Amino acid sequence: MNMGQPLEFQASCGHLLAVPSYRVGQDVRCPHCHRVVPVPPPEVPYASAVPVPAGARNRPL
Ligand SMILES: [Zn+2]
Repeated sequence: MNMGQPLEFQASCGHLLAVPSYRVGQDVRCPHCHRVVPVPPPEVPYASAVPVPAGARNRPL
């Protein structure tokens, strides 16, 4: 596991935040609205051997 890998998630306040992955499970302060929000675990772990079905994730690159 790469401890320095940035993790992007939509916080409970509605803003998109990027935090270091080691902060998963911790509380961080949203830089946009200054609320303290929890960091959820990533949806797809990098170590997962299960392939993501095509079309399941629509992330524009
Ligand atoms: Zn916010």
